[in-house]
Amino acid sequence: MSRIVMKFGGTSVANLDRIRAVAARVKREVVAGNQVAVVVSAMSGVTNQLVKWCQELSPLHDAREYDTVVATGEQVTSGLLAIALQEIGVEARSWQGWQIPLSTDDAHGRARIEGIEGAELIGRMARGQVPVVAGFQGIGPDRRVTTLGRGGSDTSAVALAAALKADRCDIYTDVDGVYTTDPRIVPRARKLQKIAYEEMLELASVGAKVLQTRSVELAMKAGVRVQVLSSFDDGSGLGSDLPGTMVVDEDEIVEQEIVSGIAYSRDEAKITVRHVPDRPGIAAAIFGPLSAAGINVDMIVQNISADGSTDMTFTIGRTDLPRAQLTLAAHQGEIGYAELLTDPDVAKISVVGVGMRSHTGVAATMFTSLAAKGINIQVISTSEIKVSVLIAADYTELAVRALHTAYGLDVV
Ligand code: ADP
Ligand code: ASP
Ligand code: MG
Repeated sequence: MSRIVMKFGGTSVANLDRIRAVAARVKREVVAGNQVAVVVSAMSGVTNQLVKWCQELSPLHDAREYDTVVATGEQVTSGLLAIALQEIGVEARSWQGWQIPLSTDDAHGRARIEGIEGAELIGRMARGQVPVVAGFQGIGPDRRVTTLGRGGSDTSAVALAAALKADRCDIYTDVDGVYTTDPRIVPRARKLQKIAYEEMLELASVGAKVLQTRSVELAMKAGVRVQVLSSFDDGSGLGSDLPGTMVVDEDEIVEQEIVSGIAYSRDEAKITVRHVPDRPGIAAAIFGPLSAAGINVDMIVQNISADGSTDMTFTIGRTDLPRAQLTLAAHQGEIGYAELLTDPDVAKISVVGVGMRSHTGVAATMFTSLAAKGINIQVISTSEIKVSVLIAADYTELAVRALHTAYGLDVV
């Protein structure tokens, strides 16, 4: 007997037929004698629609009310899946974040999980009941609904697996594992049998949406065994039996490539603050207020110009752009800039691999390959196991494909 957390993403619960298929899949684990808890996302497209409604009413909407709205998608699917399970003879009960409770901090819209009360669910699972937990949502210290940031159901699942001391956390999605890059834009992407926590963490943090970054962080910290696999049918009517990708410790991977994956993100926007005085404290004057406004800054470049003034270029999450513009405008006096330029049509392309620690030339290959395709690099940033560049969004697919080939990752 194992205790398993099974998480199903948006496409896996996209309609009633898919929900029935998920119920059958869950039943199979129950019949095999396992204790199962399920975490569900909203039906695919639903969260996007809910976010859009908030934005249409007010671009700077109240984050508490945003959470009230966007958390509803998961409430629907948790109830529907519980019904579908009951219908095929599996005892099941839905759980919203506040009912468990799954407690978070008060950072509405991107809350962090602070604790999960697991005893009640463990007791019910021991009696053969399947808890169906609404992913993505929790309850804050203000006793209002919170959400965990886009893609947050992955984090709900891993956190639940840790709280329930589950043997594994299976993340069912619309691809059958983690690939060398998004298989939707590179058909020759290769499925990885295993990927190291650190690489998965880095890939997720630079845009590989297959797992939310925090879910990987948490899995690494809590030692949760995470597996990514497909919920789609292999003809048996019970989903696929193909092995997925296991996220493992680095030393469990025998043949380590120098570059293990390539990711892209179109969720960023570029800001250039023009003609700021080139003096000590200028970076603090710009980035201090942004940080106080809760806006994350990612890549940064500062140009030196001859007349004692400089331009500062950086990237932020695209949805933060209106707030960043307002924040900087409110501090124009202290910063002393002449002009603010913004560009939402950018993409960040990153190559990731733990092999970079011991091999040189990864960045050079990246720059040469992009140059050969005529793609201009606007900003560069690096970490120990990653090189990222910012380019015009139109070139995203071309860049990812070119790099995938250049690092020898294509399936032959
Ligand atoms: P879910 O709704 O199941 O959470 P997501 O859309 O959040 O699904 O994540 C799965 C998607 O992640 C895939 O459809 C794929 O397009 C994308 N993806 C991006 N990078 C990768 C990668 N390296 N390997 C697999 N999938 C990836
Ligand atoms: N439904 C949420 C989203 O679309 C959470 C998730 O799918 O993980 O972001
Ligand atoms: Mg997801």
